[in-house]
Amino acid sequence: MKKPTRVNHPPPVELPPGNRPLVAPIYQSVKFEFEDLSATEQFLRGERPGFFYTRSGNPTNRQLERLLAELQGREDCLVTASGIGAIAQALLALTKSGDHILTFIESYNPARHLMRRLLARFGVRHTLLSIADTAGIERVLGSEPVRLVYFESPTNPITRIADIAALTRAARAAGALTVMDNTFAGFHQHGEFEVDVFVHSLTKYASGAGDVLGGAVIARAELIRAMHGDFGVLGGTLDPHAAFLILRGLKSYFVRYRAQCASALAIAQLLAAHPAVTRVHYPGLPAHPQHALAARQMRDFGTIVSFDLEGGEPASRRFADALELFALTPSLGSGESLVVTAHIMGARDLDAAQRAVSGVTPGTVRLSLGLEDVDDLIEDVTRALAAAGS
Ligand SMILES: *Cc1c(COP(=O)(O)O)cnc(C)c1O
Repeated sequence: MKKPTRVNHPPPVELPPGNRPLVAPIYQSVKFEFEDLSATEQFLRGERPGFFYTRSGNPTNRQLERLLAELQGREDCLVTASGIGAIAQALLALTKSGDHILTFIESYNPARHLMRRLLARFGVRHTLLSIADTAGIERVLGSEPVRLVYFESPTNPITRIADIAALTRAARAAGALTVMDNTFAGFHQHGEFEVDVFVHSLTKYASGAGDVLGGAVIARAELIRAMHGDFGVLGGTLDPHAAFLILRGLKSYFVRYRAQCASALAIAQLLAAHPAVTRVHYPGLPAHPQHALAARQMRDFGTIVSFDLEGGEPASRRFADALELFALTPSLGSGESLVVTAHIMGARDLDAAQRAVSGVTPGTVRLSLGLEDVDDLIEDVTRALAAAGS
């Protein structure tokens, strides 16, 4: 074998029987082969397991999919290149022209954009209600066929809580699927409810370091099987190296999530007692209007705390600029604490009435708690509140 040939066929290294790495290797390979043509044909006919082309399956991605399915309490999972990619691909795979989606004002902006701008072009309509509008939900589900109900809980940014048992029961009775963006609550929550499809951004709590994008769709095997072919050609495949980083991040998921929740509660309590603050949105506070529902549905209340400043928009600007430890940028679940104000959250697609329903005011601030020492965070927020009030 000449050297230009050799560099393209390097010597294989296989572990001897009984010898294994504790951390699975990154299968950074697009292609996989079988021993001969008939084995390949068997694989393509679905008669033998294996991998062939990473866009439709990769062992590193598969390990992540199996772990996430187990964490969320479902049979199977598909990982994608980003959270919004998971939402887009799931909605494209689950709907067809003429279908109707019921969704909510209190939701992640890009998901609404997807329905309003993209799905609408393919004849998929949607109705936008408040997650708190129980009568409206019953009316829509009772008056015409609904393909799916798409929702979040706690909602972004003001942490309203969906009554998941009631919502899934009503959807099921009407023959609609439920699709829940469970990014805020995390993989260890809400699995006991009859949600058909969970979507997650892995960019947040899964990686934990804020250095990699990823998404996941988690559901029973039959639904994942139905979506798998479409996902393969939509092409938003997670890179195996990103899957490896996310698997690594997940090792500390529970420890991080709970530490961040403890900081969120401490900051929420601090805000609730401060005269410059008119409202605090954190489901872990007994004063949260849906605290009892949250306590029934959740084990941990999340790491997002939103609040309104008495001084409105100018105060929120002063507050955000005075913070030193909180980076002024969106997202959540990273080691660094983060802050966004109403101007940055921007819900430009909502009209005035919908904006009022959303609960976001010009003085609304959203904090995402990181992994810093809580005493430092308290000191930083206390100083910024003083600056906001001045
Ligand atoms: C961030 C986020 C997404 C989108 O995830 P990306 O990985 O950034 O594409 C979807 N839903 C929620 C609730 C999010 O916070």
